[in-house]
Amino acid sequence: MNILDAHCDAPTQMIRGRDFGADNPGVQVDFPKMLRSGITGSFFALYIPARLSNEEATAYAFAQLEELKRQVAANSDKVAFATDRESMLENASKGLVSIFIGLENGSALLGRRGVLEELYAEGVRYVTLCHSEDNDICDSCTGFGRWGGLSPLGRKLVGEMNELGMVIDVAHTSNDTVRDVLGLSVKPIAYTHGCCSSLCSHKRNLPDDLIRGISSRGGVVCMSIYPCFLSDDYAGFDDDNPDGRAMPELAKVLDHIEHAVAVAGVEGVGFGTDYEGINHTAKGLESIENFGLLVDGLKSRGFSASEIAKMASENLLRVISAQK
Ligand SMILES: [Zn+2]
Repeated sequence: MNILDAHCDAPTQMIRGRDFGADNPGVQVDFPKMLRSGITGSFFALYIPARLSNEEATAYAFAQLEELKRQVAANSDKVAFATDRESMLENASKGLVSIFIGLENGSALLGRRGVLEELYAEGVRYVTLCHSEDNDICDSCTGFGRWGGLSPLGRKLVGEMNELGMVIDVAHTSNDTVRDVLGLSVKPIAYTHGCCSSLCSHKRNLPDDLIRGISSRGGVVCMSIYPCFLSDDYAGFDDDNPDGRAMPELAKVLDHIEHAVAVAGVEGVGFGTDYEGINHTAKGLESIENFGLLVDGLKSRGFSASEIAKMASENLLRVISAQK
């Protein structure tokens, strides 16, 4: 079975100096662990902190991209870039794990179509419109509601991304932004990492009407393994300064996936861990090496192999191919 993770913050760790070619003890993701995990591919996000000015954001995105390209090239016996199903399967046939590229925070685009096109040419296949603050494109779910959804620039960007074939990612955006994107986008969209509001009230999670809205237009909502998204028991939990409490059971992740499937159908759900962007995970999933536990868990909940295959990669790959 092919497994494609919709969101991993590996490039942030790379630019801080971590060598992903090494089998680093105690980390969530590196190339040797990916190989051992049986995972087929992962979207590595060029993550742009909201605090960076737009020019700084662009420079930081390209700096991460260069370091990512350097590390992938240096480990061509383990990994290779992919942009779609075909390239992923070709890599897999050679025993290589596929690295897809995303951009997390459209601030780096500078509102310029040329930057969007350049990133697409470099292999970037989704752009998360914002991060933790409102930006020039749209409101964040953790912002102040500057625009009431998409800005005029954001509305223009939706059209440009549709034309170019870049997937629009609405993780981190406000609910009004998701509604605006659903009203404008003529292509299916993605929500690459988060969970369900019905089971945990964290602002980053999606309400059922938007899960349904995304899936009914052919899109995909990808479930995370981050404790704060999984249960309100972790409201106020500081991921950087843990208080020693036990992490949520893997069953909580399965609960969110089951709920998303109940709302969206099995064609509308995917996996988006947020590895390396978080310090804590649900129990058992501390390393990508144990990702098979998630698949086993879904089997134990009664999902068939073909249903799990859809969630594990096919739904996200379908959203990517639908952009053409
Ligand atoms: Zn994120």
